[in-house]
Amino acid sequence: MDDNTQAPSELETLTLGLLHSRGEVERLREREQLVSSLLGSVNVVLWAFDWQQQRVVYVSPAYEQMFGRSAALLLSDYGEWLNSIYPDDMEYAAQSLAAVLDSGAVEQREYRIIRGDGQIRWLSDKCFVSSRQTPDGQPLIVGIAEDITEKKQLQGELHRLATTDVLTGIHNRRYFFESAERALEQARGNGHELAFLLFDIDDFKKINDSHGHQTGDRVLQRIAHCGAYVLRRDDLFGRIGGEEFAAIFPGCDAPQAKQMAERLQREVQRLSFTAGAQTFGVTISQGLTSLGPDDSLEALYVRADEAMYHAKRNGKNCIVLG
Ligand code: GH3
Ligand code: MG
Ligand code: MG
Repeated sequence: MDDNTQAPSELETLTLGLLHSRGEVERLREREQLVSSLLGSVNVVLWAFDWQQQRVVYVSPAYEQMFGRSAALLLSDYGEWLNSIYPDDMEYAAQSLAAVLDSGAVEQREYRIIRGDGQIRWLSDKCFVSSRQTPDGQPLIVGIAEDITEKKQLQGELHRLATTDVLTGIHNRRYFFESAERALEQARGNGHELAFLLFDIDDFKKINDSHGHQTGDRVLQRIAHCGAYVLRRDDLFGRIGGEEFAAIFPGCDAPQAKQMAERLQREVQRLSFTAGAQTFGVTISQGLTSLGPDDSLEALYVRADEAMYHAKRNGKNCIVLG
């Protein structure tokens, strides 16, 4: 046999094999470092959870930054995970995790966490049952968690802008009527009473003309605060026009609603404004009506508006029932 074609000796095979696997190990290590640095630089946390053992078996490097907590502690004790969930969201977090086992995946679940430094953050995570099981054949739930705090704040701010009257801070016209429609449906569904109130500032044009638009704005703001202060927690209140406001009193019969309107009338009369050396007060005219069996929101509005018109015709600063 030629030297070149000689079969490798056992030692040579072993050495080659060792060299080969050393190269493989090296490549694997490099790949792991690459994956680890990638996972560390993206702002999401990947995690894997052994459902049977109730143990977090993997968490990516971004965990420590996002949660402000130790990954080693989390891997050794699932209680650390539970500690990080905001108490009000604990039940939802547990239920939605269990739901993954039934459905195979949960597209999105949102909950709050308390970071190690006490900061509260919003997280969203997608979770699914992995095609790989734990070594003892149990299901492995894996997830990708993302911090959505800023997105939530923006959503909240957008919602506030879309539903609030900028000048007075109370509900704007659109949101008031949307919510009123819901309140009406609820009242009909439960067979509860409901009252609808409209009021308009008396001689507001004169206030603007005598004291300026800015003073007029202040009057609108103070009246809005006054209404918000007089009304109960579940009442709806909004500015539905320039100097026109509306309120819904769910669960209120006509005498109760009248008492509320009278209280509002008194509180507005008590307000005192100063503009330069002058001091002045304001009054409002109110139209009040109660929900009848076949009333639509429109019908309620028209009746309250007519009642308010009569209040104006009757000399203003009064309440008329429609
Ligand atoms: P009445 O007693 O019959 O209600 O008379 P009024 O003067 O209150 O009613 P009118 O409808 O004639 O005038 C309403 C005025 O409200 C006209 C408008 O310039 C003013 N107005 C509407 N929106 C605003 C606002 O945002 N700020 C200020 N300062 N004025 C406003
Ligand atoms: Mg007016
Ligand atoms: Mg008006």
